[in-house]
Amino acid sequence: MSRVEVQTIKTDGHTILLGRHSLAHLAELLATRDFAASKIFILVDENTLKHCLPLLLSKVAALREAEVLEIPAGEESKSLEIAQQLWAALSDMAADRDSLLINLGGGVVSDLGGFLAGNFKRGLRFINCPTSLLAQVDASVGGKVGINFNGIKNELGLFKNPELVFVDPEFLGTLPQREMRCGLAEMLKHGLVCDAAYWHELQSLSFYEPDELDKAINRSVQIKAEIVSSDPFESGRRKVLNFGHTVGHALEAYAMEGDMQELNHGEAVAVGMVCEAFISHRAGFLNESEIQEISSTLFENFPKIIIPDMAHHRILSLMRHDKKNAGGKLRFSLLEGIGDSCYDQEVPAENVIDALNFYKRWVSPIS
Ligand code: NAD
Repeated sequence: MSRVEVQTIKTDGHTILLGRHSLAHLAELLATRDFAASKIFILVDENTLKHCLPLLLSKVAALREAEVLEIPAGEESKSLEIAQQLWAALSDMAADRDSLLINLGGGVVSDLGGFLAGNFKRGLRFINCPTSLLAQVDASVGGKVGINFNGIKNELGLFKNPELVFVDPEFLGTLPQREMRCGLAEMLKHGLVCDAAYWHELQSLSFYEPDELDKAINRSVQIKAEIVSSDPFESGRRKVLNFGHTVGHALEAYAMEGDMQELNHGEAVAVGMVCEAFISHRAGFLNESEIQEISSTLFENFPKIIIPDMAHHRILSLMRHDKKNAGGKLRFSLLEGIGDSCYDQEVPAENVIDALNFYKRWVSPIS
C-alpha cells in the first residue's frame, strides 16, 4: 500500500479506513450533517493521552472541543469499576443518544470503550482509532467488546459494531517494541489460521520498513474482516480466530492473579499458539515439521515465559470458563496445517498439560 493512499475494507457490520491519511476522512465526516454529534468524547489511557491525542488533534481539528476521558494504562482497566466510573462521567457530562465516543488506544481502550458505548442509554455510536499494532490488526475490528469480570477474561461483553475504524500506522511511531511484538502475535495467528503465504512473509517482516508494515497491517485487517463477515456472532468459522487464545486467555488471567511474571495479551497468545499447535499435532492434524516450524518462529520472536508447575491445575480451571466450551468439555480451535484451521475440537485435559510441558521443555535462543 502506498503511504499516501487510503484503503477501505468493509466487514458485514462496519467499515475500516486504512492508511496514514485516513483520519482526513474523519475530519470531513464530522463536518457533515448526517454524522453530527451533540457531544464528542475521546477515551484514552495515560499513554495514548500523551503520545496519540496530540497527533489525533493535529489531524482532526474539530476534536479539540471534545471531552477527554482518561483511564490507567493496562488490562486492569477492563473492569466493572472503571466502566462504572466512566458511565457516571458520561452521565454527569450529559452524554445523550446523539453523542459520539472515540476510542483512542490499544485493545483495552477499544474493548472497554465499545462496552461502555454498547450499554450506555442502550447504545451510543462509537469510532475506533486503534493506536497499538494489536488493536490495529485485530482488536478494533469486528465488534467484539467487553471487560474482564470475576477473574475471567472478557466475561462480560457484547457484539457492538463501531461506526467506523481508522487504522493510521503513524500512531505506531511511539509504541514500545514489546507492544509491537504483541501485535505480531495476532498477525502470525492470521497467517496460521488461513494464509500460509502471509505466515511465511511475516517471518521477515521489519517494523522499520513503513511500506512493508502497512502492507502487513492491511493483509491482517483483510483477513479479520473477511472472517468476521462470514460469521459476525461467532457461531462457527469466526472461532478459528481464537487459535492460541484458549491457553492464552487462561494464562493471561492466571498472570493477573499475581503468581506468575506479568504477561501482555500478545505474549500470552504466543505461548498459547505453541501449546495449541502441539495439541493440533497430538490430534493428528499437524506433522512434526509443521509444529517445529511454528514453535521455532514463535520462540524466535517472543521471550520464553516461566510457567510454574503448580499453575497447571489453575490454568486448566480458568480454561473451563472459555466461551467455546460445551457440555463441560474443553473445545479448541486448532490448526489442520499451516494456513488451515478448524474449530469446536474436543481436547482432553491431559493433552493441555502435555502441551504446557512441551512449551516448558523448549530451549529458547532468547530465554
Ligand atoms: P493495550 O490496550 O493495553 O495497549 C498496550 C500498551 O500500549 C498500553 O500500555 C498502551 O497504553 C500502550 N499504547 C497504545 N498505543 C500506544 C502508542 N501509539 N504509543 C505508546 N503507547 C501506546 O493492549 P493491546 O495489546 O493493544 O490490546 C490487548 C487487549 O485487546 C486485550 O484486553 C485483549 O483481550 C483485547 N483484544 C480484543 C480483541 C477483540 O476482538 N475485541 C481481539 C484481540 C485482543
